[in-house]
Amino acid sequence: MKRLIYFVLYYTGLWLIVRFFNRKKLAILMYHGVTDKDYNVWTQLPRSQFQEQMEYISRRYHPVSLEDAVTSLKKEKSELRYAVAVTFDDGFRNNFSVAFPILKKHNIPALIFMTTSFVDKEPEFRGLLWTDYIYLLLRGARGSKVDFGDLGLKEYDLSDYDACAKAKSDIMTRLKTIPAGEKNRIVQDMARRLNYAIKPEDYVVFESLEWNEAKEMLTSQLVTFGAHTVRHEILTRLTTEEAEKEMRLSKELIESRLGVPVTAFAYPNGKRDDFDDSTEALAAKYFDCAVSTVEGLNDRNQDLYALRRINIGNDIDLLEFKMHLSGVYEFLQMLLNRNGQAQSANKKGY
Ligand SMILES: [Zn+2]
Repeated sequence: MKRLIYFVLYYTGLWLIVRFFNRKKLAILMYHGVTDKDYNVWTQLPRSQFQEQMEYISRRYHPVSLEDAVTSLKKEKSELRYAVAVTFDDGFRNNFSVAFPILKKHNIPALIFMTTSFVDKEPEFRGLLWTDYIYLLLRGARGSKVDFGDLGLKEYDLSDYDACAKAKSDIMTRLKTIPAGEKNRIVQDMARRLNYAIKPEDYVVFESLEWNEAKEMLTSQLVTFGAHTVRHEILTRLTTEEAEKEMRLSKELIESRLGVPVTAFAYPNGKRDDFDDSTEALAAKYFDCAVSTVEGLNDRNQDLYALRRINIGNDIDLLEFKMHLSGVYEFLQMLLNRNGQAQSANKKGY
């Protein structure tokens, strides 16, 4: 249905009216990784898809750094026109190896929000994010059935790669919201039972940036870095003290490793329930702005500590990409939702 509406709006040119109407708003794109090896994971875009999107924004929009865009939004009269800021969450190594050359080619600025325990390669999940760690283990157990009922999960039939991806997404949804200690115990328990040695070629897609690669990107003056906490825990589920510590320590670590101030923050998971007035106030203490994963564009009145983003995963083709950027997606969401609120789309992200 949505697809049909897109086609009608696109081929009648009506979407261009919405695009024009939204020209002064800021679009912030949220990516995670860009990969040469397609694992069909929502967070990892194939290189060609990313390339196509970057070519499009360099032709039809004005790519700006998030920091510059925020400065403009604060002004009485914003000079933003068709402005797009590119952001990446978590700090994957392929941001450097695959995405960075494409950004350089088109001279597109980007900001990478680092989860510092990930970039610091804490050994708990072999230096991977727990979600990717579990996914690789499930793929390794492909062809079998696993029963995690006793861990508060389900029985999963891992017949093929799609089934593994479905199992991962179910496990992720269930475990994302429980406290880190308990979650980590369950993940380790699953890992023991799945008993698979992750291969280097699998590992390479999901591993984190090296600090020297981050420095090289910084030197280009095209890429900057923001904080995304230490352990990627949902802040509204922590005490105020713990939440503050997650923000402060991640900011301090990146600043000390890279020698530059960190002024932007991304809430883990970032849905409307994942941050509140108290977390926003904490973010304001340490940063100039904070981004969520609530879907939409930003105008001058947008709260700088609840900036909306457009969540880009591997299931968005170029037509859909154009619809999101132009504000058509948000417009349709508003029409379809009685309460007039654009929905958060970070169901598959991390
Ligand atoms: Zn994240």
